[in-house]
Amino acid sequence: MIHIDLTINTNLVRKILTGFIRSEITRVGLQRAVIGLSGGIDSALSAYLAVEALGAENVLAVCMPYRSSVPESLAHAQLVIDQLKIPSVVIPITEMVEPLFQRDPQMSQTRRGNIMARARMIILYDQSAVFRGLVVGTSNKTEIMLGYSTLYGDSAYAINPIGDLYKAQVRQLARAMGVPQVILDKPPTADLWQGQTDEGELGFTYEMADKLRESERINSEYEENRKTLIVNISHDLKTPMTSIQGYIEIILEGGITQPDKLQRYLQTIYNNSTYMNKLIDDLFLFSKLDMDKMDFNYESLQVRPFMEDLMTEFKFELEEKNYGFSYQDKMEKDCLISIDGKRVYQAIRNIIGNAVKYGPENNLQVTVELYEQGDFACLDIQDNGPGIPEDKLPYIFERFYRIDTERSKDFMSTGLGLAITKELVEAQGGKISVSSSGDVGTCFTVCLPVKTPPESSLTL
Ligand code: ADP
Repeated sequence: MIHIDLTINTNLVRKILTGFIRSEITRVGLQRAVIGLSGGIDSALSAYLAVEALGAENVLAVCMPYRSSVPESLAHAQLVIDQLKIPSVVIPITEMVEPLFQRDPQMSQTRRGNIMARARMIILYDQSAVFRGLVVGTSNKTEIMLGYSTLYGDSAYAINPIGDLYKAQVRQLARAMGVPQVILDKPPTADLWQGQTDEGELGFTYEMADKLRESERINSEYEENRKTLIVNISHDLKTPMTSIQGYIEIILEGGITQPDKLQRYLQTIYNNSTYMNKLIDDLFLFSKLDMDKMDFNYESLQVRPFMEDLMTEFKFELEEKNYGFSYQDKMEKDCLISIDGKRVYQAIRNIIGNAVKYGPENNLQVTVELYEQGDFACLDIQDNGPGIPEDKLPYIFERFYRIDTERSKDFMSTGLGLAITKELVEAQGGKISVSSSGDVGTCFTVCLPVKTPPESSLTL
C-alpha cells in the first residue's frame, strides 16, 4: 500500500516561489505584477506570494465580478487587498460578456464560463500594460492536470507560481502565509455561475484528485525502478555466469594438460560462483527489506553494554588481521534503545567490512565513537581509507552503486551492501549519513532512536 504524503515544507516552498516570481519578472525588465483576485484561495495565495516577492506597491489586484457573482467573493477579495495593502481596481465583466450571451439564449454554462474566463484575461493584459506588470497566474497543479482551465482564459498567464502545487499544498501554503480563514474554509469555485463549486462540477474532491495523481506518479516511478533493477540483476548475474560457462567448456574439451592451469581455472569458477551466491544472498535480503517483509525482533537494550560487546568483537577481528581499531564511548549517560540487535550488528558489520575492503592494505585504522545527539544514540565509524569522491557520495546508498566497478569485483562487491545497511537502519527508525574526504577517509554515522531519556531508564 502506497502512502501518499503531500505535506510540503512551507518555508522552503515559500522561498522558492517568491524567488521564482522575482527572477521571472526582473528577467523581462519589470518589477510589478497584476493578479486577478477572485476571492478564492488560489488567487489569494498568488497575491501573498507576489507581495512577498515584489512589495505591496508593486502588485495590482484586479477584481472582475460578473452580474451573478456572489457578493461575498468580492468581499473576500477586498479582505486580501486590505490585509496586503495593495492597489486594486474593480472592473466588472458583465457589459463585456452579456452581448455574446444574448446572441444565443441556449448557450451552455461551459460556453459562458469560457467566455467569462477569456474576458477576464483581456482585462488583465490591458491592466498589465497600464501598470507595467506581468500577469501572474492562479492555477494550481491539480486543475492543470485535470484540464480544468480555459485555454486563452485563466491559463493564459505570463507566469504561474503555484502551478507546481497540488490543491492540498495550496491550502497548506496559504495557511502558512496568513490568507484569511474565511477564504481557507470555503469550497473552491471558479465563480462562473451562482452556486458553482469546482468539486461539485468535477464530481470528486480536489483531495481525491491530488492523491490519485500522486499515486500514479509514484506507481510509474516504482515501475521504472523495477525495470532498472531487473536489468541490473541480469547483468550482474550474467557476467560471472558467462565466465563460469566459458571455463567449464574449456575444461570439458579436455585440452588442459598443466595441473596448475586447471587449478587456476577451477579457482576462477569457484570465485565466480561464490560471487553469484553472495549476490543472490544480498538480493534476497534487500528485496525482503524493500518489500517490508523482514521480521525484526525488537528488544529493549542499554546502548552502552550493547555497543561495548559489539566493538570488542570487531576489535578482535580487525586486530587479528593487523588492522588498527579503537572505540570510545562518549555518552554522558546510558540509555535504552529498542532495536533488533542482530540487524544493527549486520548494518555496522557492512560499514566496517567496507572500510576493510576499500581501505589501505597496511595501516588501516578504524575509529568508532558513541555519543548522544538529541533523541538519538549515534555511532561515528571513521576509516583512514582513500575516501569517496564528493560527487559520488550522494549515490553510495543506492542499490548496485559501485564506484570502481572493475576493482570492486575482486572484493565480492555487489553494490548492495550500503543499500541494505540504510534499509536496516531506517526500518528501525534510525538514520544513516556519510562524509568523506581524500585526506581523512570516510566516516559513516549511524543514529538509533533512544527509547527513554537516560534518567528515567536508570531510576526505574
Ligand atoms: P558493496 O556491497 O559492493 O561493497 P556498498 O553498497 O557497500 O557496495 O558500497 C558502494 C560503494 O561505495 C563501493 O563500491 C565502494 O566503492 C564505496 N565505498 C563504500 N564504503 C567505502 C569506504 N569506507 N571507503 C571507500 N569507498 C567506500
